[in-house]
Amino acid sequence: MLQGNYLGQALTQRIGEFILIRRELHAQPELAFQEHQTAALVARKLRDWGYEVTTGLGKTGVVGTLRRGTGHRSLGIRADMDALPIQESSGHAWSSQRAGLMHACGHDGHTATLLAAAKLIAEDLSFNGTLHLIFQPAEEGAGGAVEMMKDGLFERFPCDAVFALHNMPGIEAGRFVFRAGPVMASSDNVTITLKGRGGHGAFPHETRDTVVAASTIVLALQTIVSRNVDPLKTAVVTVGAMHAGQANNVIPEEARLELSVRALDDGVRKLVKERILNQVQLQAQSFGVEATIDWREGYAVLVNSPQETALAVQVATGLLGPEKVDAQGPMFTASEDFAFMLQRVPGCYFFVGNGGAGTPGACNVHNPGYDFNDDIIGPGAAFWSRLVETYLRDM
Ligand SMILES: [Zn+2]
Ligand SMILES: [Zn+2]
Repeated sequence: MLQGNYLGQALTQRIGEFILIRRELHAQPELAFQEHQTAALVARKLRDWGYEVTTGLGKTGVVGTLRRGTGHRSLGIRADMDALPIQESSGHAWSSQRAGLMHACGHDGHTATLLAAAKLIAEDLSFNGTLHLIFQPAEEGAGGAVEMMKDGLFERFPCDAVFALHNMPGIEAGRFVFRAGPVMASSDNVTITLKGRGGHGAFPHETRDTVVAASTIVLALQTIVSRNVDPLKTAVVTVGAMHAGQANNVIPEEARLELSVRALDDGVRKLVKERILNQVQLQAQSFGVEATIDWREGYAVLVNSPQETALAVQVATGLLGPEKVDAQGPMFTASEDFAFMLQRVPGCYFFVGNGGAGTPGACNVHNPGYDFNDDIIGPGAAFWSRLVETYLRDM
């Protein structure tokens, strides 16, 4: 177990309560914007501990507010609450009781960790200012952060800084990994529809073959990152789906490609988009087929502000010692909607190791065998408490 002296007696004594809450949440996973039971549990607990609670923000989001002293600074801490449409195979006693649904990204753990901190902060901590605990729905693709912001999150609950954590399988349990600057990629979803002229497979010269055009486009797209993006920067163009045709002797009238396009820099994101639009149109033209491109912008590039990241590194180092902290970890091409909150308010999104190679915590997120490591609730909650003390200190 990781619960060392740094957790203090108050947290060590009550950690068992939050392991039970985490497992309760795990057994009852809820999908994006359906987190009614989870939100009700969060709201009930926060009220019990003296927080002013607002529900229904961004459909199922919850904000708990605690004010102390006369300080004007305000701090926001966010946890996500949603689960995924995956059939669990972890075999744990607390496995999902809902067929086809699972907390496979550890959002049950993020919620339990912030609740553990909430109780500790309310009962044992002195600070000066305003604390907003933001429990967000629908992180997994559906954009719960934006929905909360549309409902006036930062107008109704102004924050001078916002922070959030995510567990990270494959990294030693309880190790904190930070990074100033870009951390997570933008993620755009693109559908390319090609319209040609269908016909008999024996008479290709009478058709406009969408299969050949689509195949050539897939290969041409491979040159965008390798030939257009600065080699010292990065992007991803993945063609994840290709649909065309039914029979070996029929040239199909239509073909469809589905792309995931990612970048870690707004300039690169724009360049890649321009090049894809250009390539697809010109390739299609060369085969005499018509291309329609539906470009749906997904999550933004997530950028941590230097000052708030430095503060978070300082808090973690003070709590755990430098050997448990990476001040400048790697970037990832996955994406995260906390990026939109960070576009409005400076702050830091960071990772806490869920367990190193060879341990159960190393199983990756979105895998049916994944489980959040309960041993990291303590360090996470201790960090949040110490951050509140540090950020909202008497000034
Ligand atoms: Zn996820
Ligand atoms: Zn996640």
